Amino acid sequence: MLCLRKSLCALVVILFASCFAEVLAQGSPPAGGSANPLDSKTLPSFKFEMGKQPMRTFEGGSAQEATVKDFPISTGIAGVNMYLKPGGLRELHWHANAAEWSYVIKGHARVTVFDPEGRSEVLDFGPGDVWYFPRGHGHSIQGIGNEECQFILVFDNGAFSEFATFSITDWISRTPKEVLAKQFKVPASTFDAFPKKEVYIAQGPVPPALPLDPPPFSLKSPPLTHRYRLGAQKGTTIDGGSFRLASQKEFPLSSTMTGAVQILKPNALREMHWHPNADEWQYYIKGHARLTLFGSDGRARTEEFGPGDVGYVPQGYGHYIENASQTEDCETLIVLNSGNYQEISLSAWMNSNPPELLETNFGVSRRVLDLLNRKDTFITVPGK
Ligand code: MN
Ligand code: MN
Repeated sequence: MLCLRKSLCALVVILFASCFAEVLAQGSPPAGGSANPLDSKTLPSFKFEMGKQPMRTFEGGSAQEATVKDFPISTGIAGVNMYLKPGGLRELHWHANAAEWSYVIKGHARVTVFDPEGRSEVLDFGPGDVWYFPRGHGHSIQGIGNEECQFILVFDNGAFSEFATFSITDWISRTPKEVLAKQFKVPASTFDAFPKKEVYIAQGPVPPALPLDPPPFSLKSPPLTHRYRLGAQKGTTIDGGSFRLASQKEFPLSSTMTGAVQILKPNALREMHWHPNADEWQYYIKGHARLTLFGSDGRARTEEFGPGDVGYVPQGYGHYIENASQTEDCETLIVLNSGNYQEISLSAWMNSNPPELLETNFGVSRRVLDLLNRKDTFITVPGK
């Protein structure tokens, strides 16, 4: 009997401990409401606190990243939060396995980019501007102006790592000086002064204003620019917020990625929808929101996001975003790994079907169905 009681006690302790561990694993319940009671723990987490990851720090700047290594659901897209000081130069480099899409949050940066046709651009970027570098195009980024520049880099491959890029100093430092002497037609000793390993971010003076003096070789401009001014776009403004979109239609060079800036007013809901052709990667810039995913087979899960957090929606998964605040707007950067922006809204889909079908499907009368707001309003607010 004593033994039974002991084991019952142990069971209670184990149950309690596992509940507690679950609460810890889930983080604190969302502010302004308890966790969704319909949540299924079998749907993997789609939240990653990129803002709390270790910073790789240099004199000229710093970076932290979100890749599939630490954020297992994000197989299609990786991201980086980077800061450059004025004059801080993210050195000349390229990426072998991903295109690079970026959004400037604050400050200013100058970019140089070179394409396989021998064409180049030197462009300045400020808050709200976007760049896109197709996979493999050589580029650099330098902080300009008098304040630190912050930008979010997004790559169309979850296995990408910002810390495994192809940097010019890395390659030159791994090449015998005799080979460099042949390549550049100078004595081998010329390279004694060059870096012995990858520089990654260098610190130098802030470069002069554009236009620069013409470079020593003729500079050809590409037909499609690498820059798009998303912040200057009028976008779509509705009762519940606004949405600015840069797909390949708006930003023709950006053939493999689409980006958007979404603002949700307090309590607003970005409607239930899905994307048939792309994964969605989100970076929460301001405010707080709840993102819910529907993953088929009775599985749905809600997680709460704040500034610096990254969210991920696998291709085809149903989802919606609710502003979790009664007072504050929520601003989110949304990036998809296709240049062709596609979405299907639940309301629009329902409306495309005959009412008799909906009656049968839901087992409710036409009168009840007619009460539902089924306008495809994109973002909705209570009472509107
Ligand atoms: Mn890059
Ligand atoms: Mn979406």
